[in-house]
This record gives sequence, structure tokens and C-alpha cells, in this order.
Amino acid sequence: MTTIAFLGLGNMGGPMAANLVKAGHAVHGFDPVPAAVEIAQSNGIKVFTTAVEAVVGAQVVITMLPSGPIVKSLYEDILPVATSGALFIDSSTISVDDARRINAQAVDRGFAQVDAPVSGGVKGAVAGTLAFMVGGSDEAFSAARSTLDPMAGKIIHCGDTGAGQAAKVCNNMVLAVQQIAVGEAFKLAEKLGLSDQALYDVITGATGNCWAVQTNCPVPGPVPTSPANNDYKPGFATALMNKDLGLAMDAVTSTGARAPLGTHAAQLYRSFAEQHADLDFSAIIQTLR
Ligand code: NAD
Repeated sequence: MTTIAFLGLGNMGGPMAANLVKAGHAVHGFDPVPAAVEIAQSNGIKVFTTAVEAVVGAQVVITMLPSGPIVKSLYEDILPVATSGALFIDSSTISVDDARRINAQAVDRGFAQVDAPVSGGVKGAVAGTLAFMVGGSDEAFSAARSTLDPMAGKIIHCGDTGAGQAAKVCNNMVLAVQQIAVGEAFKLAEKLGLSDQALYDVITGATGNCWAVQTNCPVPGPVPTSPANNDYKPGFATALMNKDLGLAMDAVTSTGARAPLGTHAAQLYRSFAEQHADLDFSAIIQTLR
């Protein structure tokens, strides 16, 4: 049994921490939101009134927070009180640059640290089937693996510090472009007199197949569990896709990479998010009508 401090017990962190309790770990939590604290306590997490108290005595410290600046500021508070030899895992989705700066904060104080963002959403967090994309040294990755296991379906060591966040922004940029392209195809098919079901059956057995059509089909009917059948209730909210595309665009700018389709997708999601941040990101098909 390991004592794990879990900071950020929201939609993702709450169920992730609960899976660590189920795996037999002692989980010490902190979150400023009372509703998150209540749920965490009912799942066997020992909740403290400050992050510092939660971290004292923990062998592993996991953060699952909204943004890079929040992780950075929290690390400033908790690093001075952390147990010698503790391992830091940040699973928040943040920029590659922030991930590298945060790693340096921990390493400067003698701690091992990895970035380990996830894919799989709240469903994956509850089921313990998240895909972890990990950036960090071989030693830090090996040390993190057994802690990540009860929350994971897949754990991939992507490379050195920041590589996990790099993989996450690249994947989500592809996803955004695909979801728009699939929406365009269904709208074109409609104008050509082709049924949604026929297009679905063809694409999913042909070279255009991808998650955006096979699982997250943006029209009601072909995939009964897709958000299109449930008034586009997420799913993966447009607000989160917009955030991830913002991080991708930061990376495009800072590296000088060329990403014309990713950049256009980011613009489309930015304006879609102004009105429809709470809808599943597949609802962007509505703008193509
Ligand atoms: P959320 O807003 O539900 O949870 C974040 C939690 O952090 C909140 O409960 C908030 O109170 C807490 N928090 C804020 N400041 C804090 C602090 N200083 N100390 C401790 N806790 C603090 O968000 P979420 O959906 O759980 O997402 C968390 C991270 O995971 C984000 O970076 C998000 O981009 C990423 N992510 C989310 C999903 C998803 O489907 N929701 C999927 C993959 C990745």
C-alpha cells in the first residue's frame, strides 16, 4: 500500500482517486470545492483542508487540475513540505512548455516528476481504463507505472519530459480535424441524397474510418450511444476541445510548425465554443448546415 496525495478531485480526478482507493492505496485528497470533497469522502478518500496537509507523508503526489499556472502555483506550495523521495505525477492537460517548467521545479528540489495526461474522458476515469501518455526519464516512468495501473487501460512512455503533453495535443488536433471532416461528409451526403446509415456503413468499412465517425458519429441513428442521439450532451465538451486546441496552437507557434488544418479547426472550435461550450464537440456539425 502506498500513501498517495491526490490534488484536484473534479470530474476526472474524483473517479481516478476512487480507483486508487479500490486498489488498496491510502489516498489523501484536497480540492477547494465542497461538492468534490463530499463525493471523494464517500469513495474512501481522506480529504484535508489544504494541499500542503494532504501532501505531508505521501510517497506519490498526483495533480489533476484545470491549467498549467494552477499546477505551477500549487507545486510552489507543496514541494517544500513533500516527503524526501516522493514521486510527482501531473495528469492535467497543460502546455508542453508549462510541463517542462513544472518538471524543473520538482527536479530542482530533488524530486522525480512525470507529465502523464490522459485520454478516455470521465467514462474512462470511472472505469479505470484511461490511456496515459507519459513524459519523463526511464526511472521516473518505471516508478510511476504501478501507481497509474489501477486507473489505466493503456500506459505509453512517449519520451522525456513534456512528451506526454506533446502526444496529447497532437492527438487532439487530429481528432478535431477528423470530427469536422466527418461532419462535412455527412452534410455533403445529405445534399447528394445519401442516407446517414449508408454513409456510416461505407466509411466504417473503408479508408475514411476513424473514432470521430465509428464511435462519435455526429448524426443521430447509426451509433445509438453517440452524443448526437442525446442532444449532443458530452461526451467530450467543446470547451475542453477548445482548450486543447489552444494548447496545440501554442505549440505550433512556439515550434514554428505548419498546421493549416489544425489551425483552421482551432478557429472553428474557438467560435463554436463562444455559444456552445457545453455541447459535445461533434455538435460542430450544426455549423455546417
Ligand atoms: P474539473 O474542473 O472537473 O476538475 C478540476 C478540479 O481541480 C476542480 O474540482 C477544482 O476545484 C480543482 N482545483 C482547482 N484549483 C485547485 C487547487 N489549487 N488545488 C486542488 N484542486 C484544485 O476538470 P476535469 O474535467 O476533472 O479535468 C481535469 C484535467 O483533466 C484538465 O486539465 C482537463 O483538461 C483534463 N482532461 C479532462 C477530460 C474530461 O473529459 N473531463 C479528459 C481528458 C483530460
